[in-house]
Amino acid sequence: MGKVRVRFAPSPTGPLHIGGVRTALYNYLFARQAGGDFILRIEDTDSQRFVPGAEEYILESLKWCGIEVDEGVGKGGPHAPYRQSERKDIYLRYALQLVESGNAYYAFDSAESLNELRAAAEKAGAPFAYNYKVRGELETSLRLSDEEVKARIERGDQWVIRFKMPENEDVAMDDLIRGHVTVNTSTLDDKVLYKSADELPTYHLANIVDDHLMEISHVIRGEEWLPSLPLHYLLYMAFGWTDTQPQFAHLPLLLKPTGQGKLSKRDGDKMGFPVFPLEWHGKDGEVSRGYREDGYFPEAFVNMLALLGWNPGTTQEIFSMSELIEAFSLERVGKSGARFSPDKAQWFNAQYMHTRNDEELGRAFLPILESHGIAADLATASKAASLMKSRATFVNDLWELTEFLFVAPTEYDEKAIAKYWKNENPARVAEIRDMLAATDDFSAENLKERLHELIAGNEWPMGQAMNSFRLTVVGACKGPDMGDVCGFIGKEETIARIDRALDALGR
Ligand code: GLU
Repeated sequence: MGKVRVRFAPSPTGPLHIGGVRTALYNYLFARQAGGDFILRIEDTDSQRFVPGAEEYILESLKWCGIEVDEGVGKGGPHAPYRQSERKDIYLRYALQLVESGNAYYAFDSAESLNELRAAAEKAGAPFAYNYKVRGELETSLRLSDEEVKARIERGDQWVIRFKMPENEDVAMDDLIRGHVTVNTSTLDDKVLYKSADELPTYHLANIVDDHLMEISHVIRGEEWLPSLPLHYLLYMAFGWTDTQPQFAHLPLLLKPTGQGKLSKRDGDKMGFPVFPLEWHGKDGEVSRGYREDGYFPEAFVNMLALLGWNPGTTQEIFSMSELIEAFSLERVGKSGARFSPDKAQWFNAQYMHTRNDEELGRAFLPILESHGIAADLATASKAASLMKSRATFVNDLWELTEFLFVAPTEYDEKAIAKYWKNENPARVAEIRDMLAATDDFSAENLKERLHELIAGNEWPMGQAMNSFRLTVVGACKGPDMGDVCGFIGKEETIARIDRALDALGR
């Protein structure tokens, strides 16, 4: 077999749904594993649905995910251009080739006459299909003479080229995920391949021609394209390209969290999670949330997506991109839809949060600290992150989790007061204070030992003594080990906080 070459071929019709990102990811993993090429082709032949900014959004999304394009829009390559609107000249030639070989024909039907046919069919209780039953009677080159066709084209009548779908033939197809599928052509209609009105091909023609010219070996795409597969098979046959025809793999849908139906933007809006990788600003001023802006690590997002539809056959859940490249296989992509879980998405981010490098977290935490009026250096921000990252899901959670490290308490938790500020505890805290005042080594390790020594040595109940002490320094019963807390805020601040609390709460 020749080189593995796959393509991601989105249409720039709006922000890329996470299902689209997953398609790109699976293509990328498949290509990388095989040492092949991952191509980005922009399918922008539907001028009606073109949305400015969507292409840039696609490129940025792939970049954020770490999906590197080998060839294509934004990168170039031997088959450039990779934007279909810039390949316009190519397609007419191929459409005409099909007319010539009798696999396609000109149709001159006006929009009005087609509407009439549709209305009449509806009245008769059957949907209208432009197919073998009716094409012989319509305004097509199948019926009109060559001269008439030529004359109509020359006088500027609008025309389309339609595929002449064979009548009652079984098309046998193979899909790498779904296996062998057979469809009878009588159920299919004569799809438009090319339109004179905008001098553009439709998706079907442009897609097949480009996959052929770009030497695509595998087409890995969403399940919504499965109904088009018989036509695509027949187009390869009609062109005489079956020898080099790519293999197909149709990926299962991403389902709503309930498991019922396709995951939509509305589900995200309703349940409060993004369905797009990056924030998107619609032209009507509407802003759609993105995973990036919501604070997800791209690695966590990619990891989560990889497991929506594919399983490694083991219990392993955390995969780096290179591990995914090694482990991925189309055989392990399921046939049935993959249910999206917003909780699981958060769970993945938490796993990456817990193992993230402290300095990297510190760097991300600095602007958040600044926004709260805290001017910390990188070492301090990193230290704070290291103390609390195991309890955070997002970098954004760090402020709430570590605020007491930067801001001394001015209030003390009522419940904690009721529970701990009684009996001998205030006196114990006062003793802890004096011990700390006499301690020079304020490293967390030393403080942990000294505190333990004092409390255990006096046979004070550990929970009572430690929590009442914690109440004075933190203001509540939360946070990491008190050795870490005092080590972080330093001796002066620790003593000052205890003194203030003893004054406020009574000794
Ligand atoms: N342009 C199509 C899309 O937007 C590509 C489908 C395919 O991969 O063949 O999904």
